[in-house]
Amino acid sequence: MKPTIYDYTQDELSSMIKPAFRVKQIWNWLYHRYVKSFDEMKNLPKELKAQLDNDFSLQPLEIATVQHSSDGSIKYLFRLRDGHTIEAVLLLMKDEEYHEDGTLKHHKRYTVCISSQVGCKVGCAFCLTAKGGFVRNLTAGEIVAQLLLIKRENDIGANRRVNIVYMGMGEPLDNLDNVVKAVKIFADPDGMAISPSRQTISTSGLSSKIEKLGQMDLGINLAISLHAVDDELRQQLMPINKAYNITSIMEAVKHFPINQRKRVMFEYLVIKDVNDDISAAKKLLKLLSGIKAKVNLIYFNAYEGSPFQTPSRKSMIEFQEYLTKRGQLCTIRESKGLDISAACGQLREQNI
Ligand code: SAH
Ligand code: SF4
Repeated sequence: MKPTIYDYTQDELSSMIKPAFRVKQIWNWLYHRYVKSFDEMKNLPKELKAQLDNDFSLQPLEIATVQHSSDGSIKYLFRLRDGHTIEAVLLLMKDEEYHEDGTLKHHKRYTVCISSQVGCKVGCAFCLTAKGGFVRNLTAGEIVAQLLLIKRENDIGANRRVNIVYMGMGEPLDNLDNVVKAVKIFADPDGMAISPSRQTISTSGLSSKIEKLGQMDLGINLAISLHAVDDELRQQLMPINKAYNITSIMEAVKHFPINQRKRVMFEYLVIKDVNDDISAAKKLLKLLSGIKAKVNLIYFNAYEGSPFQTPSRKSMIEFQEYLTKRGQLCTIRESKGLDISAACGQLREQNI
């Protein structure tokens, strides 16, 4: 199978394509114009277009299913060239706003949630992605192309601000090399120019990889899927906790280079009668003392046959208030696209 051209950085392409100055032109067609064929790259000589077509694929994935949510989120199921499927979601964070005189105050704000693997090895008890087991890592190009296709499909211009969260299917730090490469390709100022400070990697807590990512000093944001405050419960929910316990995660977080104006996000999936007690909030507060953290409470999203239940709004708010009243920043993730089964793995499950 031909590799996809989205797998490569500009530097890498420059050593493959001669003369190298063509790479910038190609890059522009790929990431600003979203072309679907090499033939559309009008300023390239015919022979080069033929060579590119011979060497690289421009279609690492295709859209299999699209689901629109009432809140404007759009969920995509992509089919890879080997037939496997992955999910990505376009979230509209804020609608366009206008001044009284009709001029634009600000554009829609987009966040795109993308996948890093087909399936996942981590095997969390509450997660649908885990149920299908692990299939394979995505290549950098397969990660990059998810956003590219979403931008193309929704006419999101190259100059529009997009945030990226690696919160779709898979454990990004278990595919560190390809994810880091995708981060760099996204960040390239000649391409999509999405700086690492607008990208967030979410991890189930592979401490050694958090350290490694930190040492790269990319300026990327970190989100930790904590979900429990003691090792016993966390181990039941997330078997990875046996290898990397809460203490090791907190140590790794303390070493992680964080932008002065930023905080590490701690995701806390709230499950009814499992971890929604105020005593957990109390422990959480203690655990986070001394760390520049923000807590994001997530409603557990129930699915058919799921062993857990969604918490009440009241218990979410009580949990949040306990923290905020004591000075810990805490938000509740309003489940964007819940009606389109936005919890990871759910769209794929329906289509298998
Ligand atoms: N593997 C990484 C990133 C992908 S999972 C991680 O675990 O952080 C992204 C987020 O979706 C995680 O915080 C995860 O806990 C959450 N998630 C998984 N199953 C869910 C469900 N049923 N309802 C709500 N959130 C869920
Ligand atoms: Fe993997 Fe994240 Fe799902 Fe856990 S929650 S199984 S780490 S994708």
